[in-house]
Amino acid sequence: MFAILKARPEQGLSHADVESPKGPGPGEVEVAVSMAGVCGTDFHIWKWDEWSSRRVKPPMVVGHEFVGRIARVGEGVHHFSPGQRVSAECHVTCGHCRLCRTGRAHLCRETSIIGVDRTGAFAERVVVPAGNAWAVDDAIPDRHAAVFDPCGNAMHAATIVPLAGRDVLITGAGTIGLFSIGIARSHGARRVMVTEPSPYRARLARELGADLVVDPRAADTRAQILSMTDGQGPEIVLEMSGNAGALRSALEVASNGAHVVLLGLPGSDVTLDLAETVIMKGATLHGVTGRRMFGTWYDVSAFMLRNPEVMDRILTHRLAAQDYAEGFDLIAAGNCGKVILDFTGKAA
Ligand code: NAD
Ligand code: ZN
Repeated sequence: MFAILKARPEQGLSHADVESPKGPGPGEVEVAVSMAGVCGTDFHIWKWDEWSSRRVKPPMVVGHEFVGRIARVGEGVHHFSPGQRVSAECHVTCGHCRLCRTGRAHLCRETSIIGVDRTGAFAERVVVPAGNAWAVDDAIPDRHAAVFDPCGNAMHAATIVPLAGRDVLITGAGTIGLFSIGIARSHGARRVMVTEPSPYRARLARELGADLVVDPRAADTRAQILSMTDGQGPEIVLEMSGNAGALRSALEVASNGAHVVLLGLPGSDVTLDLAETVIMKGATLHGVTGRRMFGTWYDVSAFMLRNPEVMDRILTHRLAAQDYAEGFDLIAAGNCGKVILDFTGKAA
């Protein structure tokens, strides 16, 4: 079957004709992939940066945001059947530890990630544990269902504290930041403010209805945010860039008592003025990883059903799977929202 993989420990990805799965094992389902989203994580693996070169063991089929139809079910799987449309949670957790057993499986230390630690979904077929499969509502089109995962990251971050009636600052309008704009608006935020240096993504943020979109490098960024929030600063910050400067500026402008939700992953250690911008402000920092299983998935499903136009605005590019290199070029240049790969032409 056709698959996109990290074949060797070096920059780039390649495609190859690889062996199809032998079939799902007990408790697993085999999915014929129709569409898959290209994630920042895939881009890290493409670049072969420090994190990915430590973590990924080539050869590895990549990709973890996807939708498809169940082709075969393994022994003991009764609640899914062939033909059913599913996406999947990419974090495969142990199911036995204290975190898994107390509703916090997204924090399981034994997590293995589809397309990072185990065979991924940029292929005609992928096998996943049935417990990870998510039955997709008939009214959600494939192109939206393919991105349950990153939309779920945004949903998880944006639902840590209630946004209704609050001024929200989102730093970084990459795909997850863009989803967060739609979610913040649909959850009744008072003002949604965004900092984003890429003009392409700043335009998308405006189109999605952000009340203020500013370039973080501009001299009056802070003044503009303060002026929009009656001089108080935002009560909620969603940090979605992974940029240390973005976090420092956000903490400086945030209101006293702010909740600062950290989703973006900095590449190295970050220095903060803890005394002035966290402690004396009485600010609360929240680290966020993955998606709640499966509360976040229900929330995302509802969001997608109610906001198809938001989804379509963020999904800027749809490419045939074999044109994946073009997708990575777009991401490298920052000239895209979400890039989707279409595997339907590839399906057996
Ligand atoms: P992305 O790279 O598409 O988006 C990041 C955006 O931040 C880009 O548009 C970039 O232009 C912008 N940016 C850069 N410097 C900035 C600055 N100083 N101020 C404001 N914006 C700035 O990434 P994404 O896929 O949207 O993911 C967002 C972040 O979340 C990444 O750091 C990613 O690694 C991380 N992530 C975390 C989790 C998690 O579970 N915590 C899951 C997925 C991704
Ligand atoms: Zn566990």
